[in-house]
Amino acid sequence: TDDLVQPEATVEEIAFEGALRPGSLAEFVGQPKVRGQLEVLLRAAAMQDRSPDHILLAGPPGLGKTTLAMIIGAETGRAVRLSSGPAIQHAGDLAAVLSALTPGDVLFVDEIHRMARSAEEMLYLAMEDFRIDIMVGKGAGATSIPLELAPFTLVAATTRSGMLPSPLRDRFGFTAHLEFYDPVDLERVLRRSADLLGVPLPAEAIGELARRSRGTPRIANRLLRRVRDWLLVHEGSDGIEAVRAALLLYDVDEAGLDRLDRAVLHSIAHRFRGGPVGLSTLAASIGEDADTIESVVEPYLVREGMLARTPRGRVATPEGLAHAGVVVQPTLDD
Ligand code: ADP
Repeated sequence: TDDLVQPEATVEEIAFEGALRPGSLAEFVGQPKVRGQLEVLLRAAAMQDRSPDHILLAGPPGLGKTTLAMIIGAETGRAVRLSSGPAIQHAGDLAAVLSALTPGDVLFVDEIHRMARSAEEMLYLAMEDFRIDIMVGKGAGATSIPLELAPFTLVAATTRSGMLPSPLRDRFGFTAHLEFYDPVDLERVLRRSADLLGVPLPAEAIGELARRSRGTPRIANRLLRRVRDWLLVHEGSDGIEAVRAALLLYDVDEAGLDRLDRAVLHSIAHRFRGGPVGLSTLAASIGEDADTIESVVEPYLVREGMLARTPRGRVATPEGLAHAGVVVQPTLDD
């Protein structure tokens, strides 16, 4: 999609995010719990001069999983090799990645929940014993050749930790659950990025952006770049004006919801009378991918108290209904 608020990285961002990426744990804003957990884990490994345990980073897109993987490499002085679930379509793809590792490498596998099932067994063995069995030939003549691997640390990211088979989940020494950022932390992210980009913005403008960035650093940085553009094109305009204009232009509403968030709420509220409605029915009603709704839209609406997941399906809460413009009649119990 071309939505401004879609949390997936755009082509522009894959090229430019590097410049705004914090390079150390100390520079990584927010997520105090995860930062504290990682600090201990990395320091203990360094003290014993061994590779840190395998680490799973779970959470919605744009919250800093790739950034943390790079930081784990930097903090431990290890090289980071990059791969992703969709790139691993066969066990052979994984064998190629694993056999190219050198001792101590950090292997980052983004979107690990999308890795081919046929590669899972190989990954289990690799994570546990740093070895794999490579199958050669087919049918009755097939043999397996054992291959020793260099000790490595797997850092895997997923937006769907619930979709990982439990034998895989169990092989990580530590799972970091990234949470949406609160506005105060997003203000710090934005202040840092504004300084790096040389965009002068008053505190009020930063505050407004932080409040409407969907709890997501990637979206905050993206809106900031659009504000920078606005200031460049409209000479003499002030920061708060630029922020309001950018938000309006890119269709971010007062609550920081984007087009897709609103479409989901609107559909539950109006088509399905507040719910409950099943995920696939909901997805079909707005022509969106169920996976995107589940891993991107819902976590934020749930955290904002506008949507609830129930065993019978998704329901809009009174706040969600109000946001979708439904007038809720008070009942006698209220
Ligand atoms: P993910 O891998 O979870 O989709 P990324 O690690 O790519 O997210 O982060 C997206 C962008 O947001 C990065 O360019 C980075 O600059 C910024 N970012 C993420 N987390 C933080 C943070 N804690 N502090 C500062 N910037 C952050």
